[in-house]
Amino acid sequence: MNPVELNAHTDFDQHESVFFSPGESLTAIIAIHSSKLGPAAGGCRMYPYASHEDALADVLRLSRGMTYKSALAGIPFGGGKSVIVGDPKTKTRQLLHEMGQFIDSLKGRYIAAEDSGTSVADIKAMGERTRFISGVSGGRYGGDPSPMTAYGVFIGIREAVRHRIQSDLPGIHVAIQGVGNVGYHLLKLLVYAGAKVTVADINRQNLERVSEIPGVDVVPVDEILSAKVDVLAPCAMGGAINGNSIYSLRAGIVAGAANNQLASKEMADELLNRGILYAPDYVINAGGIIDVYYQNGGEHSESIVNQHIERIGPTLSAIFSSADSRRLSTNAVADEMAEKALNRVDHQAA
Ligand code: NAD
Repeated sequence: MNPVELNAHTDFDQHESVFFSPGESLTAIIAIHSSKLGPAAGGCRMYPYASHEDALADVLRLSRGMTYKSALAGIPFGGGKSVIVGDPKTKTRQLLHEMGQFIDSLKGRYIAAEDSGTSVADIKAMGERTRFISGVSGGRYGGDPSPMTAYGVFIGIREAVRHRIQSDLPGIHVAIQGVGNVGYHLLKLLVYAGAKVTVADINRQNLERVSEIPGVDVVPVDEILSAKVDVLAPCAMGGAINGNSIYSLRAGIVAGAANNQLASKEMADELLNRGILYAPDYVINAGGIIDVYYQNGGEHSESIVNQHIERIGPTLSAIFSSADSRRLSTNAVADEMAEKALNRVDHQAA
C-alpha cells in the first residue's frame, strides 16, 4: 500500500509507521501508532480476516488504542500492534519464526506480546528469532497477562457499578460475552465477589470449564448482548456495540475487556443518549499491559502490580464524573485525558 492510500484510510491517525511483511508465506502487518512515551508495545493477533483491508483497519485501531491505554495507565510504553492474517489453527513454527524475523527487522521499535489467536508459547517461538517480545516469563502466570487484565476489568466494573447504581457487587447481575482467557478469570472474580453471572461463548470447550463454577447461567450467543442485566461485559472480539446491537442493549453499564468494543465513534454518543454508562475499553483493560510492563522491568512484588492495576478505578471514576458534568461521552473524555498526557511529553521534550 502506498503512503497516500494509507494516509487516506479512515482509521489512519497519524501513525508513525506501518510495516507490511515482505515474504509470501507470512501475511502480517505491524503498526506503530506512537513511540512518544516509549517503545511501541502491544499484542500480536492472529485472525482469519476476510480481507487485507479488514486486517489493516484492525491493526490501525488497535495500535492507537495501545497508545492511549499506556498513556492513561501511566506506563512508559508507546502504542503498537501486529496482526497475522490466517486461521490460528493453521499456524506453524515456521510461520512464527517468520513473524519473529519481521518483528526483529524493526530493531526494537515494536515489542510483541500475546493476543487473540496467539499464546505465550507462540510468542516464545517468535522469540527464537527476536529478542523484542514480552509477556513470556515472569509475572504471576508465566507471562500470560490475561488474569491481570481480568483483575483490572473487575476493578472497573466495580467502579462503574458504584458510580451508576451506588451499590457494591453482591447481587449485581453481569453478562459476559466470551469466556476465553480474560472472560473466564473475570467470571471467577465476579462470582467470588457475590455477583450473579450469565455467559455465552461460541467455543464449546471454553463453556465446559464454566460448568465447574456453581450458579453460572449459560445463554445462546445471540442472546447475551440483549440480556436483562446490570452490566454487559464484552470479552470476545471487537465491534460488539454496533448499529444493530446498540438498540437491543438492556444493561445500564457496558464494561468489558474487548478492544474496540464500539464499532464506530458514533456508538459512544449513542450510548450516552441511551443513558448507558460505558467504561472506555482501553482504560478498563489496561491490567495486562501494566503486568507486562512490570515483567519487563524485573521482579516486582504482587502488591506493587496490584496497586498499579487498581488505579484503573480512580481513573474511571474521574472519567465518569467529568463526562456526567460536561454531558460528554466517556470515550470523548478518556481520549481528551490521554491526549493531554501525550501533549505533556511534547512540551517536556520541547
Ligand atoms: P480469547 O480468544 O482467549 O477469548 C475470546 C473468547 O470469546 C473465546 O472463548 C471465543 O470463543 C469467544 N467468542 C468469540 N466470538 C464470540 C461471540 N460472537 N460470542 C460469544 N463468544 C465469542 O481472548 P482474550 O485474551 O480473552 O481476549 C478477549 C478480548 O479482550 C479481546 O478483544 C482482546 O483483544 C481483549 N484484551 C485482552 C487482553 C489480554 O490480556 N488477553 C488484554 C487487553 C484486551
